[in-house]
Amino acid sequence: MRMVTSHVVRAQSGNCSMSYQQYIKTISYPLSLLSTPVWLFDVGKLRVLWANQAGLDLWNASSLEELQGRDMSDGMTRTVCERLGQYSEDLAGTSNSVAEHWTFYPKGRSCSYECSISAIEAPGDARWLLINAIRQDKLSDSDTLYRSVALLHTSVCVSVFDRQGKLMYSNPAARRMLGAAPLTLSERFLDEQDWHLARSKLAHSTGASIEAQMNTAAGAVWHSLTLELCPDPVSGKKSILMSEIDISNQRSAQQLVNRLAYSDTLTGLPNRTSWLSTLNDRLESAREQHRELAILFVDLDRFKLINDTLGHTLGDKLLVAVSDRLKGCLGEGDYLARLGGDEFTLLIDEKGAQGRSEKMASNLVDALAIPMHVDGHAMTMIPSIGIGLFPQHAEDSTLLMQQADMAMYAAKEAGGGFRTFKPDMTTQIRRRLRIETDLREAIDSGTLQVYFQPKLAATDGRMAGMEALVRWEHPVLGWVPPEDFIAVAEETGMIGDITRQVLHHSMLQQTVWSAQGHDIPVAINVSPMEFRRGDFDTVVRDALQQTNCRPQCIELEITESMLMADSESVQQILAGLTSLGVKLSIDDFGSGYSNLGYLQKFPLDSIKIDRSFLDDGGISPVVELIIDVARTLSLTVVAEGVETTEQRNFLIAHGCDQLQGFLFSKPLDKRRATDFLIAHDNGRAHWSSHAVSAEWAVQRRREELAEDT
Ligand code: C2E
Ligand code: CA
Ligand code: CA
Repeated sequence: MRMVTSHVVRAQSGNCSMSYQQYIKTISYPLSLLSTPVWLFDVGKLRVLWANQAGLDLWNASSLEELQGRDMSDGMTRTVCERLGQYSEDLAGTSNSVAEHWTFYPKGRSCSYECSISAIEAPGDARWLLINAIRQDKLSDSDTLYRSVALLHTSVCVSVFDRQGKLMYSNPAARRMLGAAPLTLSERFLDEQDWHLARSKLAHSTGASIEAQMNTAAGAVWHSLTLELCPDPVSGKKSILMSEIDISNQRSAQQLVNRLAYSDTLTGLPNRTSWLSTLNDRLESAREQHRELAILFVDLDRFKLINDTLGHTLGDKLLVAVSDRLKGCLGEGDYLARLGGDEFTLLIDEKGAQGRSEKMASNLVDALAIPMHVDGHAMTMIPSIGIGLFPQHAEDSTLLMQQADMAMYAAKEAGGGFRTFKPDMTTQIRRRLRIETDLREAIDSGTLQVYFQPKLAATDGRMAGMEALVRWEHPVLGWVPPEDFIAVAEETGMIGDITRQVLHHSMLQQTVWSAQGHDIPVAINVSPMEFRRGDFDTVVRDALQQTNCRPQCIELEITESMLMADSESVQQILAGLTSLGVKLSIDDFGSGYSNLGYLQKFPLDSIKIDRSFLDDGGISPVVELIIDVARTLSLTVVAEGVETTEQRNFLIAHGCDQLQGFLFSKPLDKRRATDFLIAHDNGRAHWSSHAVSAEWAVQRRREELAEDT
């Protein structure tokens, strides 16, 4: 009410050229609608300028003219006159008001009113006050009695302080809460800032309500406080009445709600909501202080697969382990959050943030490369980290986040590690989005093709089989490598359709070759995602039936991660596939979990040594080890990615069973694969493993002698 009336008055008071009468008429209209007494008082002339009907009644005036004509200084002491003058100066130009208790005698009966007094802008130098009186029902004796009893028994702590903050009175509840020490008002506040806030509120108004931690006999406790300026009932001097209610329970409930709303329940890290607000806050202060900021987007490669194949419980534990590792890399002032799923974000807010960001990213990569032990599995993670820099890359949080996200995708496409945002990354992201939209179309229109890459027997180089590899020629992007679109298909669920098409094409081709007299097995790659659906064995069975292909001519290349899932449905699918009669092979062996236990546990036929062990034309010593293990378990060992004769000879000499790689042939389309079969597999041997091994041994001996001398 106070605010509204003064607002209305001031909003219309600007025009000084209006006559007094006109001006009063304009501002009095909304006021005349009030049912409580209200009047305009000219402090200079000590006269009432205008009053509403209730105001006239209060002043026992027969008409407005009669009241306007009254000399109000009659019956007003000099101090009252001075006080009103002071108010008009203090309150001028503000929307504040002061309250005073006045006694009036309408119709000859004494009544107590709380008068709210505010200043209004008047034409010229005039000083006007607007006074609004609200009746304070006179307390009966019994009311007074009840009130004092209530004061004694209420659980609300009520204390009265003088203007210097000295404690004058406290009710029993307040005395219980405070104990013996009568602290001053300022000493009651735990945090000086809260006391300053309360004081400044009181300086501008007669009352203040705040929540603060207060010193009590039981230590610091959250209280809801109401402070009021009022005359001390005993001395009549100005004093401060404070009532306090313990709100520690509400506070802890609130804190819990905040914790739930602002932190991630799994890892205890701040969540997306707090990340966003912190980032915005830090950006604002970095902008003001011309500071640099760096943000790191961390995404775990293939986490989704682990989660889907090994189960969510293990996935959750792994996330906790990862978050602990990341926390271990933080310095003072670094802020780590989990946005959701396997996405973490890190804020580096300090001088030289840009320089530190790449060092930090590299530390994070290293930290996750050390095995984490979760439910008996030793797991390492490869993160993809994108770095966005303020102010170099973006001014606002949305753009900065987008850019860090793009950089993260670029890192992911490069097979993990970290990347700092560069403007040309935008093009790469567009490419990815395009792949995503156009892949659906390619699947539906049957544009995807299947190529075949020969596998040769190490003993004599004859055909041992073909591996089916999917190919996509995009009308604009050209040949898109499977690595670029298989991941997209896995994320979007399109992989199921791709697998079905590849199974169908490959089995059909196998039956055609069989009919032509080349009865060779065909290997087909299976995404770990297939095992999620739970009916993959049925999919394979249907494809075999439709194409009339014999199951023993089909080999499914699965990954180590699938076998590690101890889930019943995965076991059932594997058992279902074996009972169909198809063969199972482990692809990219040695690249992942390196847990040899499962090799015995499952009905496997062969393992393919991961291509990375044959990098740069050389061979890693791990290969010998893998061949030995596979031998003991009577598994066929296939080496893929053979590019040099040196590699070929080493593998033959060490007892590898099958070889595949560019040295023999690249993946070929259907027609050329058939040509290769005919030309290559006309019954002749290409080498003798004995001869190669002997030659290898001689050469090795020569090299050793050369090394010795
Ligand atoms: P992968 O199963 O390990 O396939 C072998 C990859 O190595 C193929 O790449 C092949 O072209 C390449 N390669 C063969 N010999 C050599 C060599 O001597 N040197 C080098 N540097 N590379 C060689 P591609 O066809 O690009 O396939 C990449 C990956 O995409 C495959 O790796 C496989 O994981 C996936 N993929 C391919 N086709 C399919 C498919 O039909 N279904 C599924 N689910 N995944 C597929
Ligand atoms: Ca493969
Ligand atoms: Ca492979």
